[in-house]
Amino acid sequence: MITSVEAIKSNLHTAIDQVGSALDSCGEPDRAVSIMAVTKTHPAEVAAMAVKAGVTLLGENRVSEGGRKIKALGKDAAEFHMIGPIHTGEVRQAVRDFHWIDSVGRLKIAKEIARRTILKGEEQPGILIEVNTSGEESKHGFNPDYPLLRDVLGEIGELGLRVSGMMTVGPLGGSEQDTSEAFALLRNLKDRLERDCGYDLPELSMGMSDDFVLAVAEGATTIRLGRYLFGPRQSR
Ligand SMILES: *Cc1c(COP(=O)(O)O)cnc(C)c1O
Repeated sequence: MITSVEAIKSNLHTAIDQVGSALDSCGEPDRAVSIMAVTKTHPAEVAAMAVKAGVTLLGENRVSEGGRKIKALGKDAAEFHMIGPIHTGEVRQAVRDFHWIDSVGRLKIAKEIARRTILKGEEQPGILIEVNTSGEESKHGFNPDYPLLRDVLGEIGELGLRVSGMMTVGPLGGSEQDTSEAFALLRNLKDRLERDCGYDLPELSMGMSDDFVLAVAEGATTIRLGRYLFGPRQSR
């Protein structure tokens, strides 16, 4: 397990260099890309070290595990993102603890978020729509069919929720081409929804330890790194 702020900083700098080269190669050296540190399975101490290393976005894929770490670090320590599948019954805790829910992949979850926030006059979390761009059955998220997504965004808008962008997970062990195509699909869906429907969807969260360079080349604004920063995951 990683045990020092310096080690995390060093991995972070390597990642930043790789992102920089990817941006240079695609002719967009000035595009900003944020790095989210995914601390799932690691103890709160590791999350605290990541913050000390300069990370400002932290991602967790389970509501209760993430909630414990957010409590330990304090909610102001970072911008906390929920990036895993979420059950209706967990929405109450998720909107209380996390600043963002990036993994909204079912309308039921969006409705529950609205019920727990907008309808009570409380601030909504930041929201991204998760899209299953690889078509793998094990993956979460909405079907990437354009008319369907357009309707989904319409319905979510009617709930009073504001969507800031989209998230996806690349194909598991896919070829570079399959992976790039999945990311390009998300980018194209975003562009089309903005152009044809007038939505503003600035955030594209895509790319993990094994494929973030490809994601940056396809337009990622946030990449989500776990093993790259912290080494192998711990057993929970
Ligand atoms: C675990 C996880 C990550 C980070 O994965 P690594 O391969 O360790 O970088 C990113 N996004 C999601 C949704 C995850 O569940």
